[in-house]
Amino acid sequence: MINRLRADFQLTIITLFAACTVFLILPFAVYRFLIGQHVAGIVDSTIVVGISGAAIYAWRTGDTRRSGFFLVAVTTIGTTIAAMILGVAGVFWMYTTLLANFFLVDRRVAAMFTALALLVLALHGKAFQSTPQLISFVVTASLVSVFAYIFAARAETQRIQLEGLATQDPLTGVDNRRAMEQELQIAVETFKRSHAACGLVMLDLDHFKRVNDSHGHEAGDQVLVAFAALIRKSTRKVDRLFRFGGEEFVLLLPGTDVAGLRYVTANLRGRIAAELLGPSGPVTSSLGAAALRPGEDWPTWLARVDAALYRAKDGGRNCAVVDDGEALVAP
Ligand code: GH3
Ligand code: MG
Ligand code: MG
Repeated sequence: MINRLRADFQLTIITLFAACTVFLILPFAVYRFLIGQHVAGIVDSTIVVGISGAAIYAWRTGDTRRSGFFLVAVTTIGTTIAAMILGVAGVFWMYTTLLANFFLVDRRVAAMFTALALLVLALHGKAFQSTPQLISFVVTASLVSVFAYIFAARAETQRIQLEGLATQDPLTGVDNRRAMEQELQIAVETFKRSHAACGLVMLDLDHFKRVNDSHGHEAGDQVLVAFAALIRKSTRKVDRLFRFGGEEFVLLLPGTDVAGLRYVTANLRGRIAAELLGPSGPVTSSLGAAALRPGEDWPTWLARVDAALYRAKDGGRNCAVVDDGEALVAP
């Protein structure tokens, strides 16, 4: 449970929101019934039931988008009606709703709900004792919403930047090893359901240390950038390239079986040998590949690919080996 909360920020927000509102609103609902304000009591109880239901739905299905939308709809409509019935005492609740909306759903959806609620309250007008009071409310509530909107936009940009930092290799711009592990896990799960073939290739530059030793680390970096660009150019859009580490790259090929892997790796090997130029001439690469087997987990799959690459190196480099015991594809 703690792990799920840690991994899913939106689920955490929904849970916190639901816990706080249910514990805060429930006593109010009871109080309204006790003092005879039955309509307000029913509105409060509906909000409590709606919020708890949405939180339970989010936990059961993991669908935080839909439950977030539902929470925003229930609380915005609920607090708007409460303000219309209770007057200023109810209007205060609008501020908490407006703020919470920007955390629970996309900021544009939140802005839409906010605008609608303010419009309804302003047109209805009866929640306020005077026009200056109405104007003050609309201005302050709009300001609160604008601040929340800007804050939500900033948080979103930072989240995207952080995600990029966490999953991308800064030198070549391709996804890193962390992203690879997630994608391999997803590939294995998809394979269990669909049984569609899936291929994996590991590429390692030959004698790359020599490039660094004779021409410096920066020249080596340029070769790595060109290497990644060449692989991307030579593969399909659905193929995913990852920098595994150093001068080793991993290529995930959905829908590719052993025969397909033989073709792709031979083609890649040839293109790299022909087109990848280092500071002192062509740079070659060795490739190992394997198709995912039924019941296999991704570390075992990757280990088979690694072993195939090792055989390619052992076989004299500038060659490709596809696991399944077939002969080396000579240069
Ligand atoms: P082999 O054919 O057996 O693969 O030989 P190799 O020299 O390519 O392999 P080795 O593992 O001995 O050396 C890998 C080199 O890759 C050593 C390291 O300096 C270099 N390297 C790793 N990461 C980077 C990087 O980000 N930039 C540069 N320029 N070099 C790197
Ligand atoms: Mg190497
Ligand atoms: Mg290496």
